[in-house]
This record gives sequence, structure tokens and C-alpha cells, in this order.
Amino acid sequence: MNYPHMLSPLVVGHLTLTNRVLMGSMHVGLEEEGGEFPKLSAYFAERARGGVGLIVTGGVAPNRAGQLKPFAATLSSRREARRHKHITDAVHAEGGRICMQILHAGRYAYHPWNVAPTRLKSPISPFSPWGLTSAGVRGTIKDFVRCAELAREAGYDGVEVMGSEGYLINEFIVRHTNRRTDEWGGEFANRIRFPVEIVRGIRQALGPDFVIIYRLSMLDLVPEGSSWAEVLQLASAIEAAGASILNTGIGWHEARVPTIATMVPRGAFTWVTKRLREAGVVKIPIVTSNRINTPEVAEAVLASGAADMVSMARPLLADPEFVKKAREDRASDINTCIACNQACLDHVFQNKRATCLVNPRAAFETELVYSKAPKPLRVAVVGAGPAGLSAATVAGERGHAVTLYEADTKIGGQFDLARRVPGKEEFDETLRYFQRRLAATGVTVELGRRVTADDLQGFDAVVLATGVGPRGITIPGHDHPKVKSYAEVLLGAAVGKRVAIIGTGGIGHDVAEFLADAPTPEPDRLGEFLAQWGVDYDGWGRDAASKGLREPEKPHAQREIVMLQRSSAKGGSRLGKTTGWIHRASLKKRGVKQIFEVTYVKVDDAGLHILAGGEPRILDVDNVVVCAGQVSRAELAEPLRAAGRVVHVIGGADEASELDAKRAIAQGAKVAAEL
Ligand code: FAD
Ligand code: NAP
Ligand code: SF4
Repeated sequence: MNYPHMLSPLVVGHLTLTNRVLMGSMHVGLEEEGGEFPKLSAYFAERARGGVGLIVTGGVAPNRAGQLKPFAATLSSRREARRHKHITDAVHAEGGRICMQILHAGRYAYHPWNVAPTRLKSPISPFSPWGLTSAGVRGTIKDFVRCAELAREAGYDGVEVMGSEGYLINEFIVRHTNRRTDEWGGEFANRIRFPVEIVRGIRQALGPDFVIIYRLSMLDLVPEGSSWAEVLQLASAIEAAGASILNTGIGWHEARVPTIATMVPRGAFTWVTKRLREAGVVKIPIVTSNRINTPEVAEAVLASGAADMVSMARPLLADPEFVKKAREDRASDINTCIACNQACLDHVFQNKRATCLVNPRAAFETELVYSKAPKPLRVAVVGAGPAGLSAATVAGERGHAVTLYEADTKIGGQFDLARRVPGKEEFDETLRYFQRRLAATGVTVELGRRVTADDLQGFDAVVLATGVGPRGITIPGHDHPKVKSYAEVLLGAAVGKRVAIIGTGGIGHDVAEFLADAPTPEPDRLGEFLAQWGVDYDGWGRDAASKGLREPEKPHAQREIVMLQRSSAKGGSRLGKTTGWIHRASLKKRGVKQIFEVTYVKVDDAGLHILAGGEPRILDVDNVVVCAGQVSRAELAEPLRAAGRVVHVIGGADEASELDAKRAIAQGAKVAAEL
């Protein structure tokens, strides 16, 4: 059998799951959908059909105070439970299993009626919480139990009690946020009374035939977080209270350690679960999580004894058929989550529906439909960057006869540059996926073909995905040998030790990372990552008193780098909501400097001449790397239209400003779905 550990059954409470993949909780923004949840039901049903062992929904609040934001999903009435029945029926009809996550946001809630153990504002919400009274704590426990009862009425196989990530339950557990002096504060036994009573209450109310997953914060990654001894004590108390299975939570939302972004090595925190499992304090199964995105990693983690089950949230957004493909020995057909956060978490933080950069159908299953083409057309797609790859494969899937032309000798376009950036190695997976998909959908690929309008006669439709090129600079000395474009640098041009980077956008940051970073051999990457971000790998799980953090190690920087921009806005302000801070912190650790409000004057043998705050300065650098944005390349559009062709211009060819692969892939899929 392929992946014998991952695909073997697991008994959890009264259920026997068909495999050991749990789809982790992820709020997609459809939880607040009205009526019978048609979109959310279709989203979950597709994942159940894809064979995942157990689904956990996005967080649903047990009462109004626990909502993540105003009007966020709650389950506190029978009327709401009746609506949820449509979700559970859809999943069960596909042979799936589903638990509902009960999440009380505590002081992370984005509304003024939020509550916490103590009146202490969180650094990531503008609203100060109300301190819960003793009666308020008891009332909240009752609301959790009532919510679980309603979840069962709605047909859920169980609930996940969200006890990690710094939400209300977690806030009770650590002194950092719990300064109470009553029976809910003080000694550790008092601080964990809240989660223990919630779990006990649910078990007592619902009996044995109901799964209770408890998501336990196994490593808080905040100062004054739980110690290792406390984590063990909590795990044991939660089992005794009646949990069926423990899930792993790593890091509070306010933690300053990256835990799931693409630069986090795969499986970087599974050792935490392993140490808990090896401590032998619990007998119930344990789930591990964070940056597990391929069947190979999942299998290796399970085979190593780190856990009984693996949780994957974003990888199931990227490919609902993850498990099915693994079972059928088609792992190389999996559309792998690249951990970019751009279309999922970043959307959630912008109050937009979550979807997936590599799979724009995620959470749009009923709206973006790749139906069979009513009349097969001969379609030319020009350019095999993300936009063209997406358009060609969707058009091919729908039955059109597609030819994809690419000037380069390989596919990828700008994405082929992105994958060379340290920490973006996952981007390779997307190109591997598209390569497989081109073959599976019967697309004819012509590499090394820079086509002209004349080459495109005889097609019913042309999709122009010719992308972008780097924007150059026009100051005197722009052609000096010191000046290089980001593309030249990423493709291997020699660069000296002192570098000025023009531009502080996404590409400027990536190029700075590329030039500053000393390549680390693969086996050492995890150790280096944990050391640089101050995670106490040696102590955690071994030293009862460890709190999981230690002094971060300063990384070695290969070069002296200064980044420049003309405007006064904070550098990198357009980087992703959930990843921008990591890029900025990472470059700061490497001593990269930034200068704002710059006027570029000229480049000569002395270096880059600028005005900074009106003052002339010469930056004595070996190279000037230009990352000043991009320009569209759509020269073929006019001649093609003049020749009477139907032309669809997509991706960077359509609009260079604020372009990213998310837009390029989504636009390609949409155009092809409508051909
Ligand atoms: P392109 O990628 O530019 O592809 C166009 C293709 O068309 C090219 O392969 C080109 O050779 C081909 N072509 C052009 N003219 C012709 C012709 N006449 N005949 C045949 N072929 C032709 N985006 C993100 O979302 N997240 C990131 O983290 C990210 N990081 C990046 C990091 C770097 C260093 C870079 C450079 C880019 C990054 N991007 C990122 C941006 C992303 O790669 C682009 O937005 C995306 O590639 C644009 O896709 P596209 O298909 O529109 O154009
Ligand atoms: P960008 O984000 O638009 O940044 C361009 C930079 O160049 C800015 O700092 C800008 O600052 C400067 N600039 C613009 N015009 C200039 C000119 N004529 N002369 C000198 N400087 C100029 O573009 P990018 O960095 O090229 O990135 C392109 C796209 O790729 C982005 O939109 C982004 O979405 C995507 N990308 C995303 C990521 C990610 O991690 N999500 C990473 C890389 C790329 P001033 O105008 O202030 O000088
Ligand atoms: Fe993964 Fe990026 Fe898709 Fe989110 S948007 S699921 S991180 S590939």
C-alpha cells in the first residue's frame, strides 16, 4: 500500500476513520453564508469526496462575545443548528466525517464586546476586552456545552474545542493574560479549570458517542507562555476530562515566530508533538500539524512516531483530492500548497473570502465551474507563466484543443525566478503540478517559440499571457556594468559584496533575501530556522521549566545591502498581511538597511549617487540591482485584434501594477472557464 501509515484507519472515540489525515480548521468566510450554506456545503463535500479522514470546520463561536468579528458565525440556537444540517448531510453523503470547531475568540475578537480572563488588551486587536466575572466564566462554559449539543443536533460527528493560538481558552491558561485571583486564576490547576470544565461538561452532556478534539497549545511561543511541565499537566487533565483526541496548536497569533509561512521548513514543529507523545502522559491519539503539505512528509512524520494523525488545512484548500491522489499513487498530480498565505490567510485578515493561489476554485466550487465545452475550439495560449499555464490547463480540461507557446525553453515565466528565492522553494511544486496537468489535459506545448501575430492564424481564440518584464531605470549610468536587473541577478549574474537595491516591493525584499542569505544545506535548515527565531529546541520537551523561547541567533549575512525607495511609505508595506512582518524581520536580522525619500541621480564607477532627504550622497557599492516594478508585454494584442482574432489578455500582459501569481492564475482559470 502507498503511504501505509497515512492511509491506515484510526479509531477516534466511537469512530473509525478511514485514514490519518485531518483537514484542519480554517475560516474561509463562507461560515457566515445565509440560508442552507450552499457554497460551504459544496466546499466541504468536495473535500469529503477527495477522501480526507476527518474534516474540522472553521471556528464557530458559542456566544456573541466569542465572535471573531461582528456578525461572525455562532451556534447557539436550534434554528442555526437546522441550517448546519445541510453541511453535515453533504459531507456524510460523500462518506466523510466532520467535526465543528467551537472557537471563542477572547481578546483577539475584533469588536468592542469581547471578553477575556483579565482586562488586558492584545497587541493585535484595537479593542480592550471586558474581564469576565466568575458568573460570566460559568456562563461561557455552559455556552460551550450548549454549542456542542447543538452541533450534535446538526449532525456533526463531534466538536473541536479550540484551546490554542491565543484565543480565550489559551488566555485562561497562561499568567501572561490571566491575572485573576478567584478559582479561575492563580495556580496552574486553577488556570486550566476553564478548559477542563468545558471538556468535562461536553462529555457529560453528550455521552461517549461524540468526538471531542481538544486543540492544545503545545508551544505558545510568547513570553510567559506555558512551561513544558504545564503542557504535560494540561494534556493529562484534558484526557481525564473526556477528550477523544488531542490536536497540536503552535504559537499564539501574536507570537513573533513564523509557524506556517513558506520559509518555515516542512514539518518544522512536528518534534513538539513527538515529545509530548514520547512523554507518555496521554493514551488518546495525538494529531500533529504545521507545514505538512505532501503525502511524503505526512508519511514520514507518522512513521517517525511523532503523531497518530496529521492535520493539514491549506493543503486541502489547494487540492481537495490530496488523499485520493495519494491512495491512487498519483502524488505527483497533487496541487501542492506553497504556504504563501496570499489567498487564504491574507484574505481572512482583509475580510475577504479565502481561496487559494494555486487553486482559485477553493471556496468558489459552485461559482468557478470547469464544465465540458459546448463546442471544442482551437485555442492558442501565448506565454507559459502562471496565467498562461492556468488558462491552458483549464481550457484543455474542458475539451478545447489547446496549443501553449512559450518563448523560453521552460515553463514558469516570472514564477521561475520566484522559486530561486530562499524560502520560496515550494514554488517548484506549482511548476511540477502544471507540468503534469499540461500532459493530463492534452495541451500541446511548444517551448522555445516566441510567436508573432502571424503565427496565430487558424485559431478560434487567442489567450495572451505574455506577462511582464522588469522596469528599467533611466538615470545617467543606467547602462553602467554595475547595474543589473532582478532577473539577471536571480538567474546567476555575479554580484559584489556591497549592493544597493532600487525598490522595496515584494521583489526588492526577495532579492535582498537572495543576496543576503548564505545557503544552508537541507539537513541543517530546521536547526538554523529554530535558532534564528529563538525557539528552544534543546530545552522544550526535555526541561520541565522551559517556556519554549530563547535568545535568537543572529544569522550570517553574505553582503552589505541597502534598499532604497522614492516614497516615504513604510518599506514593504504592500507585502502580505501575514508574511510581510517575517520578510522585514528577516532582513533586519541580516543587517539590511533601508533609505526612504530617495532621488536617484546617477550611477558611475564611484557607485550610486542619490539625494536622501535632499542631501547628496554617494553609495559606494559594487552593484545596483533594479527592482523598480514591472511593465506589461502585450504588443501582440493590437495586431491580433486588427487581424480579426478573438483575443483575451490576462495576467501581467493585462495589467502589470499590483500583479501577483494569485491574480494571474485566477484570471487564467476564469477566462478559460468561459471559453
Ligand atoms: P509571466 O510570469 O511574466 O509569464 C509570461 C510568459 O510569457 C513568460 O514565460 C514569457 O517568456 C512568455 N512570453 C512573452 N512573450 C512571448 C511570446 N511572444 N511568445 C511566447 N511566449 C512569450 N507572485 C506571487 O503571487 N507571490 C510571490 O511570492 C511572488 N514572488 C515573486 C518573486 C520574484 C523574485 C518574482 C520575479 C516574482 C514574484 N511573484 C510572486 C510574481 C509572479 O511571479 C508574477 O506575478 C507572475 O509570474 C505573473 O504571471 P504571468 O503569467 O502574467 O506573466
Ligand atoms: P512593487 O511592489 O510595485 O514595487 C516596486 C518598487 O519599485 C517600489 O518600491 C517602488 O517604490 C519602486 N519603483 C517604482 N517605479 C520606480 C521607478 N520608475 N524608478 C525607481 N523605483 C521605482 O513591484 P515588485 O517588487 O516588482 O513586485 C511585483 C509584484 O510581484 C508585486 O505586485 C507583488 O504582488 C508580487 N510579489 C509578491 C511577493 C510576495 O511575497 N507576496 C513577492 C514578490 C513579488 P518607489 O515608487 O517609492 O520608489
Ligand atoms: Fe496554500 Fe497559498 Fe493556497 Fe493558502 S493560498 S492554501 S498558502 S497555496
